[in-house]
Amino acid sequence: MKKLSVVVSCYNEQESLPYFYKEITKISKEMDDLDFEYVFVNDGSKDDTLKIIKELSKKDRRVKFVSFSRNFGKEAAMLAGLEYASGDYVTLMDADLQDPPELLKEMYRLIIEENYDCVATRRVTRKGEPPIRSFFARCFYKLINKMSKVEMVDGARDYRLMTRKMVDAILSLKEYNRYSKGLFSFVGFDTKWLEYENVERVAGETKWSFWKLFIYAIDGITAFSTVPLVISALIGLMFCLISFIAIIFIIVRTTIYGDPVSGWPSTICIITLIGGIQLLCIGVIGEYLAKTYLETKNRPIYIVKETDKDIN
Ligand code: UDP
Ligand code: MG
Repeated sequence: MKKLSVVVSCYNEQESLPYFYKEITKISKEMDDLDFEYVFVNDGSKDDTLKIIKELSKKDRRVKFVSFSRNFGKEAAMLAGLEYASGDYVTLMDADLQDPPELLKEMYRLIIEENYDCVATRRVTRKGEPPIRSFFARCFYKLINKMSKVEMVDGARDYRLMTRKMVDAILSLKEYNRYSKGLFSFVGFDTKWLEYENVERVAGETKWSFWKLFIYAIDGITAFSTVPLVISALIGLMFCLISFIAIIFIIVRTTIYGDPVSGWPSTICIITLIGGIQLLCIGVIGEYLAKTYLETKNRPIYIVKETDKDIN
């Protein structure tokens, strides 16, 4: 019998986990032609998440878990889950039931009957989300798709079902700065997109603040595009040209009309403007440099403190 691994990243999910487990076992009963394995990744939760996972693991031998030594972020948690999962098919899910488990049946059918390597999901509405967040999210997708060769789908969730081949391809990408939405699209394979209406989380609250999402967006851009570097260089070039023309203009004007001392405000404005642009461009370069720095350190992406093998 083929095995399906359900990888769930959990960070402070004590309220939603019981609901999640109930729903997913219901689906596993309906998909009885498959062996199920649940891989819960505890991403350094500060509440009773680990305790709940351990209880589930004692009760149900299909429940495996990996527990981190601290919070390493969702990207690290998904990687750990994918590495730990042993199934022929692997799905990534959130613990808050925002990724409807009943879609799994349709996803599995598409992979088996229509030979897709991956079935991914995107939400077509952003109901229940602050409008300002949706606005910035839309801008982000427009921007990143212009700048990067790898296609990022607006509203794409991490929720997807993949074949072993695709999972191995993802695992072969060893980079430290992981941006999964880009990695999934980078590895290629035939992907079918399923659309669904946004579902609000069952319990608990979102772990993503606006600031965290902003940093994540910058990570996404720098991980999959070097266009910002080109833009900084172009701005530099443009300012060189402008100042060259200005120098000639000033020399000609001074030789014809002499040099009355005036124009301090405009000089200060220009200095601050150009100073600002220089700092911005250095910042952009610094962002890439920092990523290279972290990459060359070769630190592990996550550190495991405990797994189900330690207790069973
Ligand atoms: N998550 C995680 N580590 C983190 C933040 C979040 O593993 O540092 C998990 C979280 O437990 C949940 C999933 O990632 O299962 C999605 O998080 P959340 O529901 O807070 O995000 P949203 O759905 O609001 O975008
Ligand atoms: Mg959620």
